[in-house]
Amino acid sequence: MINENLYIVVPCYNEQEVLPATNTKLLSLLEELVAAQLVSPLSRVLYVDDGSTDNTWNILNEMTQSNKRVAAVKLATNAGHQNALLAGLEAALPHAHIMVSIDADLQDDCEVIKEMVEHYHSGCDVVYGVRRERKSDSWFKRSTAQAFYRTMHRLGVKSVYNHADFRLMSNRAVAQLMQYRERNLFLRGIVPLMGYRTANVYYDRSARMAGKSKYPLGKMVSFAVDGITSFSIKPVRMVFTLGLIFLFIALCMLAYVLVAYFTHRAVSGWASLILSVWFIGGCLLMSLGIVGEYIGKIYIEVKDRPRYNVEEKAGLEEENKE
Ligand code: UDP
Ligand code: MG
Repeated sequence: MINENLYIVVPCYNEQEVLPATNTKLLSLLEELVAAQLVSPLSRVLYVDDGSTDNTWNILNEMTQSNKRVAAVKLATNAGHQNALLAGLEAALPHAHIMVSIDADLQDDCEVIKEMVEHYHSGCDVVYGVRRERKSDSWFKRSTAQAFYRTMHRLGVKSVYNHADFRLMSNRAVAQLMQYRERNLFLRGIVPLMGYRTANVYYDRSARMAGKSKYPLGKMVSFAVDGITSFSIKPVRMVFTLGLIFLFIALCMLAYVLVAYFTHRAVSGWASLILSVWFIGGCLLMSLGIVGEYIGKIYIEVKDRPRYNVEEKAGLEEENKE
């Protein structure tokens, strides 16, 4: 049990204000875990500098020199939270048995990492940190975030409610994650797709310790749009359905027009006009939907995701080698 390395992966974008406090907290936590023999002494906190323009990298560099439990990776340019996270996981993969990702601002309670590791030892490959409440977020952030989760759910994207990117993953889960080669990364949607045994741990989300949120409204919206369009072709199907509805309305119109004609109430020219508007509209939307359906198929193919993830193997040659 004690020879399992834990890597805590922390993406940082212009986080000079919080880093010293974050580092102290994470290191003392790591110390505790090592002392409790939950993880090996070779465990590390791995920071990823996501192309920061402030002093972040210098601070990180210094921290790696003053403490052997700190490691850091610098990205050449700002690649975004999700990509930075992936870069960190990829860098940790050859060294770590267990990886935990957490934001640099420690809004997520790092104390529950201990509980996560315990779940890992009892056989879970993925452990989600789930927010119990969002008191510390503004009303706006809270309600937009919840609307987002709900929309995702309705569009058929599996995601864990109130879970951000605070999660534990085992080595093999991360290795499998690397097989998802798509460019539009939305980890919260992909990880639940992978399967494996999972568990949730609950915590209260606190306010950012220092510095400003790196997710202004614009980034939040594009993140949400990315999340939905990278997982669901339902919006395309909606266009098709809309076309069907329009054609149905055209049919109703036809009935109405006929009645109006025979009861001599129709204004001349109106009937043909209104019918064509609905009919052509309906046909156009339906054809768009059909074209969209094919594009949707291409889009799924292009992603080149793995078709399945093996959870366990028994009695196979490889395993019997030793
Ligand atoms: N982050 C990053 N690259 C970016 C934006 C953010 O690595 O382009 C990091 C940031 O340093 C933090 C985490 O992603 O560790 C979450 O960002 P933030 O706390 O600002 O988001 P919020 O909690 O406000 O949603
Ligand atoms: Mg934050």
